[in-house]
Amino acid sequence: MALALATLEAPRSVSVLGATGSVGRSTLDLVARTPERYRVEALTAHRDVEGLAAAALRHRARFAAIGEPAGYRRLKDLLAGSGIEVAAGADALIEAAARPAQWVMAAIVGAAGLKPTLTAVRRAALVALATKECLVCAGALLMAEVARSGAVLLPVDSEHNAIFQALRGEAADSVERLILTASGGPFRCRPLAEMARVTPGEAVAHPNWSMGAKISVDSATMMNKGLELIEAFHLFGLAQDRIEILVHPESIVHSLVAFQDGSVLAQLGQPDMRIPIAYTLGWPERIAAPTPRLDLAAIGRLTFEAPDHARFPALALAGQALRRAGSAPTVLNAANEVAVAAFLAGRIGFLQVAAVVEAVLQSCDCQAADSLDDVLEVDAEARRRAGELVAGKAPLRSGMA
Ligand code: NAD
Ligand code: MG
Repeated sequence: MALALATLEAPRSVSVLGATGSVGRSTLDLVARTPERYRVEALTAHRDVEGLAAAALRHRARFAAIGEPAGYRRLKDLLAGSGIEVAAGADALIEAAARPAQWVMAAIVGAAGLKPTLTAVRRAALVALATKECLVCAGALLMAEVARSGAVLLPVDSEHNAIFQALRGEAADSVERLILTASGGPFRCRPLAEMARVTPGEAVAHPNWSMGAKISVDSATMMNKGLELIEAFHLFGLAQDRIEILVHPESIVHSLVAFQDGSVLAQLGQPDMRIPIAYTLGWPERIAAPTPRLDLAAIGRLTFEAPDHARFPALALAGQALRRAGSAPTVLNAANEVAVAAFLAGRIGFLQVAAVVEAVLQSCDCQAADSLDDVLEVDAEARRRAGELVAGKAPLRSGMA
């Protein structure tokens, strides 16, 4: 009976913003395993024209958008005769989000994903949110749009997805604390003196997860967990002092919720993003996923420890930005994006990433930014200041330069 009903159901139309990235590719991997359940509406990428064209053909997308305008000709040529509509530029990414897919994966890295994500939210889609920077940069604004439009925001970030799962069916006032787990990244045990010399190659080699370069560096500085603290604050509406960070090097317990009766619920699984993505793709149902199964006897031991704030100052910077409120989280995010890009390009050292963020935060008044235009203005100004610091035009904190 269930089978007969399922085959009568229309396929879910889906769009993937950031289709060529790590999360985007994992999403399309799941979609391709049961193609009868999905119809792909729109796919986007930044510069990877070949990757976008191949994905659009393989998944028979209706619309393919490349963010970089220079990619238009090549994309048009690659998709000639396919019937797939092609567009390029920032507006094309927004158009992709506006097209009528029921479910949208928001997986563009960074605040560049904000406008497309807001577009999908405003038309009340089911929005699977991977781009945590949207909530850090414009959390109040985005959550207000979710409430106004009736969109459903489905957290993809593994920690927030774990909490979302643990909270299902629970009364909000029964929650005491959220506990976000952190792997500690590749430098969890690295002495501070050696951290000054680590290379981009070492920083992106995450011990447990395979991810894009920016989030891999964020994990290495632990800014990722700071961004996730702010993300959790907006998604789940709990006071900041009720959200804790717990280092768990094995990345098996993806996060926990502590309730007022002393119960603690967690979601466990292998570190494979297709697990949280599948939860959002099938939502409100669970779908089968070809992910590695958890064998706790083989793992044997799960360990936990407190974060080391001395070696990972980014964590405290994010906490301070959230406490300071106003536009401080917007500034934190923008400065971090510039600093991470500079580190990846070999222009600054690893420890300077947090130093740049700290210096930019100190130099901004961080007045509240309520409208999208205000947020984008603060974001641009913080990027400008961070750009000056990484170019050596302004001094960094002594000892860090
Ligand atoms: P990635 O670098 O692998 O992919 C990023 C995607 O965004 C690509 O498709 C790229 O073409 C596109 N993109 C990059 N810059 C763009 C721009 N300026 N304009 C438009 N498109 C642009 O990144 P990822 O690892 O897939 O991460 C994507 C997002 O998901 C990030 O916000 C990250 O924090 C979040 N996230 C990722 C993981 C993971 O396991 N990779 C886990 C949790 C959350
Ligand atoms: Mg995460």
